[in-house]
Amino acid sequence: MQICSRCIYDDERIPYISFDENGVCSYCHQFDNLEKEYPTGEEGMKILKQMAETIKYDGKNNRYDVVIGISGGCDSSYMLYFAKEILGLRPLAAHFDNTWNSKIAVENISNITKKLDIDLFTHVVDNKEYNDIFKSFFKASVPDIDTPADIGLATTHYLAARKFGIKYIFEGHSFRTEGISPPGWFYMDARYIKTIHNKYGTQKMNTFPNLWLFRWLKWSVINRIKKIRPLYYIDYDKNAVKKFLQDEFGWQWYGGHHMENRTAYFTNNYYLPKKFNIDLRYCEYSAHVRTGSMSREEALEKIKEPKIFDNGILDEIKKRLNFSNSEFDEIMHAPKKLFLDYETYKPLFEKMRFLFWLMYKWELVPKSFYLKYTKKYTDDDLKNLLKLKEFFPAMKS
Ligand SMILES: [Zn+2]
Repeated sequence: MQICSRCIYDDERIPYISFDENGVCSYCHQFDNLEKEYPTGEEGMKILKQMAETIKYDGKNNRYDVVIGISGGCDSSYMLYFAKEILGLRPLAAHFDNTWNSKIAVENISNITKKLDIDLFTHVVDNKEYNDIFKSFFKASVPDIDTPADIGLATTHYLAARKFGIKYIFEGHSFRTEGISPPGWFYMDARYIKTIHNKYGTQKMNTFPNLWLFRWLKWSVINRIKKIRPLYYIDYDKNAVKKFLQDEFGWQWYGGHHMENRTAYFTNNYYLPKKFNIDLRYCEYSAHVRTGSMSREEALEKIKEPKIFDNGILDEIKKRLNFSNSEFDEIMHAPKKLFLDYETYKPLFEKMRFLFWLMYKWELVPKSFYLKYTKKYTDDDLKNLLKLKEFFPAMKS
């Protein structure tokens, strides 16, 4: 096994990894390229301020300038504050409620929007319908069981934007704090959800906001709704931000990245590590090591600590999804599958590569989407991806 000399990625766990002559991995190089493309500090601030001026100008006849997705987590809460107080924008907060929010997340959203005096747009999905979609993904045996939550969130942002004629959406991603996940770990698109739900679901999709290609293109190409990731231009100390949010807004920490929602918590802390041997802490800690907020030695030590998991959540998942213990065990041990085993938009995205390149240049889709989703897989890529299924060591029961 080779471990990167800079971060903690290794070639046993991380697919598609390669190393340069100094033993630095390809993901660290990818990080350095992103760093160059998205500067922080004074330069980043200058870019953000210019961006804010354009956004204000475009929104001058509207009630709101920008839609900001909020989950109740640290990054999105901070972004809301930053947009309003630092950039002087008039945001509309948008939230997709998949009915699995933690109590703390709900309180955080309420506290921060009230104290900042920001209106909130929420799309709530029917809970039985969502559970049916969620359960289908378990039966499909893929890693992407939280994809419906991510797609629901993306669509909700567009729905909020369209309702009020808003031209900009801020997304809370940050490659500096979240890291870079390898291709093949996660895949999402509307057809993927539909295919899996058609095959394994039992009820109709009525309230779930799916991001159908047609309306997505209409919203982005015709309505020109732009997606921006402002956190790419800010280098912030997460611990300091957490303390600031606590002091100013009565915000509460829920004990881990992406844990504001119970499906996300279950996915990252139980399902992915147990079934696929995917441990997102590798991405997160490596990200901290690359930015210097954690030493490599500390990360290598910390990763050895066992993942903490609240078994009450497992019981709740089984209960709400109506899984018997044996049925659930069967699912955890079923042969692993990937998005390649199901019908998705991927072949279509590949054919539309040029259009998506233009969309990326016009800032209508993030660069990462263009790179990841429109690239035609070579035979080598496919071999690598399919290898993923065996790549994950067998689960220990
Ligand atoms: Zn590395």
